[in-house]
Amino acid sequence: MEFDGQVAVVTGGASGIGRATAERLAELGAAVVVADIEMRGAESVARSIQESGGKAIAIGLDVRRKEDNVSLVERTVSHYGKLDIAFANAGIPQAATPLEAVDGNDIERLLDINIRGVVYLAQAAAPVFKSQKAGVFVATASTAGVRPRPGIQVYSATKGAVIAFVRALALEWAPYGVRACAVSPVATDTPMLPKFQAAAGSTTDNPDDILEAFRKTVPLGRLAQPGDIAEAVCFLASDRARMLTGTILDVDGGRNL
Ligand code: NAD
Repeated sequence: MEFDGQVAVVTGGASGIGRATAERLAELGAAVVVADIEMRGAESVARSIQESGGKAIAIGLDVRRKEDNVSLVERTVSHYGKLDIAFANAGIPQAATPLEAVDGNDIERLLDINIRGVVYLAQAAAPVFKSQKAGVFVATASTAGVRPRPGIQVYSATKGAVIAFVRALALEWAPYGVRACAVSPVATDTPMLPKFQAAAGSTTDNPDDILEAFRKTVPLGRLAQPGDIAEAVCFLASDRARMLTGTILDVDGGRNL
């Protein structure tokens, strides 16, 4: 199997895109560390991977804390002996609202989780990747980082920052043979999507209406499923993508055209 003998950490692994990616990496042979602030959710994903015959453990972390990221990497290496793939995926949404109504605490939370958390995981993985002269870092950006929707200015800014960060990291790590890429999903059917509320132009706060409004903005006429994003992450993390670094892979059903 493609990831036999490889070790991956997935932040935000308890739900949505992170969960689907952890499961797919494990199906393809990787030993997976499911990391999330929701420890019970992470444990349940790790357990279900084990029950399907895969290798997984759960580790609790708050990506906003540098020491949690360092300890995630240290515990992964002490448990599985190395680290091949770091998927910086944990993130939070922004309820669409005019800029002047955005609360300062919400700005801080968005910046802390969506960009600082990504930077901290890369910092924690750096010494391991560099000494191995191998490794792949993948972050979850968003189509919102390049094609914004109304009212989610701060979220869009964090995802634009993820894209710029990954491109800079790719250049910095290239001499070590370490790659850095990002996946950039369009509206994806996870618990997060309805929380963007009016961003897709829904006139109600009914979750079904919000999802339908998002669906209409995707040229392929459907929302992405978490498994669609997992496939793209697995490709970027695999040796098939060995010549790709700094690549931002849009999984967007045509949205960015
Ligand atoms: P989700 O809410 O299902 O999963 C997010 C996970 O991140 C949750 O398990 C949550 O507990 C975890 N998390 C949140 N804060 C954390 C923290 N401080 N420390 C550790 N874990 C934390 O959402 P999802 O849709 O799977 O989102 C995954 C990523 O995809 C996010 O970065 C999101 O911005 C991005 N994204 C989502 C969509 C979408 O439409 N769903 C589109 C583009 C990008």
